[in-house]
Amino acid sequence: MEVVAGLAGAVGLVTGLVAGLAVRASERAQRPVDAPTPLSSLPSGVASVLSVLPSSAVVIDGDDRVLRASSAARAFGLVSGDRLLVDELIAMARLVRRDGEIREEEIEVVHGRREGRWFSVRVAPMGSHGLVLVLAEDLTEFRRVEAVRRDFVANVSHELKTPVGALSLLSETVEDAADDPEAVRRFAKRMQHESARLTNVIQDLITLTRLQGGEIVERPRTVNLDDVIHEAVDRCRLKAEPKEITLAIGGRDDLLAYGDEELLTTAVRNLIDNAIAYSPERTRVVVCTRLADENHVEISVTDQGIGIPEADLERIFERFYRVDPARSRQTGGTGLGLAIVKHVTTRHRGDVNVWSKEGSGSTFTIRLPLPSTSAPAKETPEQDTVREAP
Ligand code: ADP
Repeated sequence: MEVVAGLAGAVGLVTGLVAGLAVRASERAQRPVDAPTPLSSLPSGVASVLSVLPSSAVVIDGDDRVLRASSAARAFGLVSGDRLLVDELIAMARLVRRDGEIREEEIEVVHGRREGRWFSVRVAPMGSHGLVLVLAEDLTEFRRVEAVRRDFVANVSHELKTPVGALSLLSETVEDAADDPEAVRRFAKRMQHESARLTNVIQDLITLTRLQGGEIVERPRTVNLDDVIHEAVDRCRLKAEPKEITLAIGGRDDLLAYGDEELLTTAVRNLIDNAIAYSPERTRVVVCTRLADENHVEISVTDQGIGIPEADLERIFERFYRVDPARSRQTGGTGLGLAIVKHVTTRHRGDVNVWSKEGSGSTFTIRLPLPSTSAPAKETPEQDTVREAP
């Protein structure tokens, strides 16, 4: 592992340097080996090497007193004053002092009720005065990312397995019903539904993977938001028609943003798609653009649908999070739509917010910075008009 290799190098570097300096210091000082090492015995060269190491570094003397600790070691609560606060580290240091062997471990450090942090630690002897060097690399983020990745892979496998399993069963059923054209037609329809679902999941996964590749939009351009919302509404029309849901466009038609038109259209389309999916028949979905302040524009999508329970509001932007999994599957949802919206807006240096009330409806609002290179749209009174989408 890179972290460990880095630590190994660092330990080698520091122990080599310190060993040389410590021998000279001992010759000068002529002190008994087990005498407590005063602070001044840590040569200044070592201190500057420790200060450039990326890991938390602590040097302790023969009595487990801290002679030197990097600010990271104090910030992580490994050290307070001249004491090492983690019992495992003290125990490792004593073993190292006894047999001179370098030790390596992954340990969890818990302070009070806060969630623990994980460290990859290496403890090594420094010279012959009982000095011990402790290097600790924070692994918490690395472990968190690993856990998210594992979760994601498990979720993806599940999302893909379900429609593939259904397709396999349906094909067997079709085979058995070969003499019944009506049944064949019915099962063929269900096969189309499952394969469409598979295509949606794969398409969303591809979009999400592309979005996670970088921080900001490649080759950004000035984008007319009116074009974005018209295109998004057009793409959702087929889904709205069977439920007789009216799609309306409102607000300003002269606002600009800076970014990727296709990605912004995908984000708005996902919001409209959801608004339709989670609304009863013969309701209304309104897509609106407005100037939020002198630096930001907003696109909002408002529905009169089922709404979202307050407890779920924080989590709906997570990948594969669904308030009601059965309903989401029934409407062809992949559980990735809002995660895509979140990534698209973040990439545009914007954000997305939600207001919702169960039984009344929801409003999702994408907020984007105005393009700095183009002249900001002039402040004019808000046009409250709502036009029916043509
Ligand atoms: P899905 O494909 O399941 O719709 P999303 O990521 O788009 O996945 O949305 C996550 C969840 O948030 C949905 O499963 C649904 O429970 C909830 N949700 C999203 N948009 C709305 C909305 N407009 N009204 C009610 N619930 C919504």
